[in-house]
Amino acid sequence: MFFGKDFKVKESSCPFCKKELNGAMAMDCNHPPRSGDVSICIRCCSVSVFDDNLDLRKPTHKEEMEFKNAPNIIKAQQAMLYAILKKRNDIDIH
Ligand SMILES: [Zn+2]
Repeated sequence: MFFGKDFKVKESSCPFCKKELNGAMAMDCNHPPRSGDVSICIRCCSVSVFDDNLDLRKPTHKEEMEFKNAPNIIKAQQAMLYAILKKRNDIDIH
């Protein structure tokens, strides 16, 4: 897994915590988000999905089940959670 470029995206709020999001970092690719791509919220770490208008929506039950078994999504969520905690507490873990 690698983290690619940062992209400016249309402002859309996280369907879980309502945080306004206007940026995305590509993962395992180097293109801006497309319909059906997964997004991980920088505030609550929830996984949501870009719809056809590039607005974020909650995943369907079927998608949720798929995400729970997708190693790259689990890894990305862990990396995000780590970044959030590190930022929040300014912890330094090696
Ligand atoms: Zn959120």
